[in-house]
Amino acid sequence: MVKETTYYDVLGVRPDASADDLKKAYRKLALKYHPDKNPNEGEKFKQISQAYEVLSDAEKRSIYDEGGEAAIKKGGTGGGGFTSPMDLFDMFFGGGFGGGRRRERRGKDLVHQLSVTLEELYMGAVRKLALQKSVICDKCEGRGGKKGAVEKCGTCRGTGIETKIQQVGPGIVQHFEHMCRQCHGQGEIIAAKDRCKTCNGKKTVRERKILEVHVEKGMRDSQKIVFSGEGDQEPDLQAGDIVIVLDEKEHPVFKRSRDDLVMTMQLQLVEALCGFQKVIKTLDERDLVITSLPGEVIKHESLKCIIGEGMPQYKNPFEKGRLIIQFVVVFPDTIPREAIPTLEMSLPGRPQVTIPIDAEECNLMELDPDHGRGQRYAQDDEEEYYSHGPRVQQCATS
Ligand SMILES: [Zn+2]
Ligand SMILES: [Zn+2]
Repeated sequence: MVKETTYYDVLGVRPDASADDLKKAYRKLALKYHPDKNPNEGEKFKQISQAYEVLSDAEKRSIYDEGGEAAIKKGGTGGGGFTSPMDLFDMFFGGGFGGGRRRERRGKDLVHQLSVTLEELYMGAVRKLALQKSVICDKCEGRGGKKGAVEKCGTCRGTGIETKIQQVGPGIVQHFEHMCRQCHGQGEIIAAKDRCKTCNGKKTVRERKILEVHVEKGMRDSQKIVFSGEGDQEPDLQAGDIVIVLDEKEHPVFKRSRDDLVMTMQLQLVEALCGFQKVIKTLDERDLVITSLPGEVIKHESLKCIIGEGMPQYKNPFEKGRLIIQFVVVFPDTIPREAIPTLEMSLPGRPQVTIPIDAEECNLMELDPDHGRGQRYAQDDEEEYYSHGPRVQQCATS
């Protein structure tokens, strides 16, 4: 039992969620509420980030489970103790490609999630994705205005920062730094009449871009596909990347476990005992027939597999994993009494049971799992129970 579930609720998972569940939940929500996509949901983005930061750390998670948010805040180092939501986001999405952070001289990376079916991951697919990005304005070639019309801002001398000196007391002056109001921090000025009409002097324009995403056979959930240099363009900066993060949709029949596929198959008791044939529709729409061996009994919850009918391996798609079948045997509630002798002849013999003469005859009842829960027997009650001699409940008196 956990003390409170707020962090789990924020991520939309249950308190028994696995590390993978948490990752997946964070990935989905962080992309959805990232300030780039949802500028008005900053608070939500922060909550998601804090919840994930705590729950993804085994030690912090156990502190939270035991003492709730108060325990986390108390234990945190200094004020707050949380990583900034943007840094956490960059660590989560940025760790995997390009070898660390190359933020300095590059435009922003655009991260998009792409929902894919298991069929698409099995067969491969080309998906078209439309998105908006900033590109250098063609008309003014990123200058923002006519050639020669761009002037260094006189107020800030091109720095974008205005420094003011103010006397705050006798002989005491203070320096104040503001963003330059003249050039809005740009460091340069373009006269209104010379401003580029296409980008309105902003040097970049928003452009709709259609990306062709090649989903390759055997790719995995959360795998990244990087379009290098296809992110936002900014003057004097190397363009960022577009990063597509795959999100595998749940399949009604197959569950994926690395390169294996796992499915459950229901068998009636007669099929489990007397044999069966079944047809399995594969992810690429082929029909597989499986036949049990004559005389073989399939036990409830037993596992069997078909080699080479799992998922293709990424970059090596002719090699495939296994299709693992977990059998669920459905027992009948009753059988006709007259069938019992015939059935007994075919089944292994019964074990011999010796019944003592003074044995008491009891009725078997259906178990009510809730019965007796919450009742606590105190020491006194227990003594009383035994002092009345053995008392067998629910015992037939005849
Ligand atoms: Zn200025
Ligand atoms: Zn322009």
